[in-house]
Amino acid sequence: MTTIHVAGADIDTRHFINGTRVSSEQTFINTSPIDGTFLGEIARGGKAEVDQAVAAAKAAFPQWSALGPQGRGEILHRIADLVEANIETLANLETMDNGSLLRSHRRGVMPRVAHNLRFFADWAINELHHEVFETRGHSNNISWDPSGVAALITPWNAPLMLATWKIGPALAAGDTVVLKPAEWTPLSASYFADLCTQAGLPNGVFNVVQGFGREAGAALTAHPDIARISFTGSVPTAKVIAHAAADNLTPCSFELGGKSPAIVLADADLDLAAELTVEQYDNAGQVCLSGTRILVHEDIADAFAAKFIERASKIKQGDPRDPETDIGPQIHQVHFDRISGFVQRAKDEGANIIMGGSPNTNLGGLYFNPTLIKNPAPGSEIVTAEVFGPVLTMQTFSTDEEAIAMANGTEFGLAAVVVSGNRAHADAITKHLVAGTIWVNCFFVRDLKAPFGGSKKSGVGREGGTWSFDFYADVKNTVVSPNGWKE
Ligand code: ADP
Repeated sequence: MTTIHVAGADIDTRHFINGTRVSSEQTFINTSPIDGTFLGEIARGGKAEVDQAVAAAKAAFPQWSALGPQGRGEILHRIADLVEANIETLANLETMDNGSLLRSHRRGVMPRVAHNLRFFADWAINELHHEVFETRGHSNNISWDPSGVAALITPWNAPLMLATWKIGPALAAGDTVVLKPAEWTPLSASYFADLCTQAGLPNGVFNVVQGFGREAGAALTAHPDIARISFTGSVPTAKVIAHAAADNLTPCSFELGGKSPAIVLADADLDLAAELTVEQYDNAGQVCLSGTRILVHEDIADAFAAKFIERASKIKQGDPRDPETDIGPQIHQVHFDRISGFVQRAKDEGANIIMGGSPNTNLGGLYFNPTLIKNPAPGSEIVTAEVFGPVLTMQTFSTDEEAIAMANGTEFGLAAVVVSGNRAHADAITKHLVAGTIWVNCFFVRDLKAPFGGSKKSGVGREGGTWSFDFYADVKNTVVSPNGWKE
């Protein structure tokens, strides 16, 4: 069976290589996290399919790169038009595949997918001017040249959204692409490939190889014809990819995990603090940016905790297709067990679990109750390791210095949230935090012009605006002398 019917859409379960569908002898099973429904058997690619896809992308590169930003942009805008025309289908499909909220996919995520493509198409057209400046009468002519075939490896927590953060700038820059979606969420990439065909994207410019990380992913990242590797996922996988890339010295961009702090200062508006910290459960905690470590000033800790619990107890957990639902299931049994293991080990160490702490037995399946652990032992696993589930910790501090030390006290540096009623106080904290993005009295506000990425083990490089093009392009300086011209 090469086509499956999911959420009203026909999805091809094969790879998408050189504009056509390609099967593999082996397949893997894809189920919905909502209720375990069998969705289909997906082609399980390996080295042979990767070689084919990279060869197709390499062959398509000269023509695509020569098209220029305007020509490429027109096609990217056509793909975005088709994404917008199919939001309902894409939203339902993604919800079935990864269990995130249907209403968020409809209103926020899928419109953002189209925006990602439009934004980077327009940035390539309008912002990447050939910059010229003089040095002792010589002109420096800076250009952003396409670099070749980009390997994009993406995670399951926001599949198409995160894929298009990479596809948009890579294609706009003139690179061609081989995408390896996460094996737990293969469907939206396949549907997106059909939209690319409908939009008239030339064959081979965009390819999808489905399969496992250690097979398809490993073959792709070790391939000598790959010019760029962009990966979003976990730290251990990034290390494996970095080793694979080393043999070819392939430049890598890594957007990795976090254990971000949410700092509530003594002068904070406590209602706002409760609202912003409870938001960290969004997407069942499966968000790399989540501020999972609440650090609260000791003077307001009890008052804050009361407001937090009042608010968090109203979270409605359930089927993500229900518009009333706030958080859905975890992605997969393996991941659910991982989360349960973290919480169990914290319990074994005597952690004070003041909310949740167990699977939701009313719902069964992959639903884990929103959990809050108070005053975990400093340095213990639950405050240092990324859980990637609906599990928050709460610790107290007495001075700003202590808050900053605690905030920076992990191997990660992806994001931070600061809640304060005093701008100078907030600034005094944020300037000492090591993080790629800091939100003050807000969360998740993001402009594609802004740099996005992590410090320390949370990443290598930044995505967004110019930063994306600095990565996907070969930035070149041509220095031209005033002398020697005959005409
Ligand atoms: P998680 O542990 O949350 O599933 P991963 O970092 O393992 O996160 O997965 C993110 C993406 O990386 C997925 O598409 C996965 O298939 C891919 N991946 C996993 N292992 C490798 C590998 N060795 N080489 C390349 N890609 C990989």
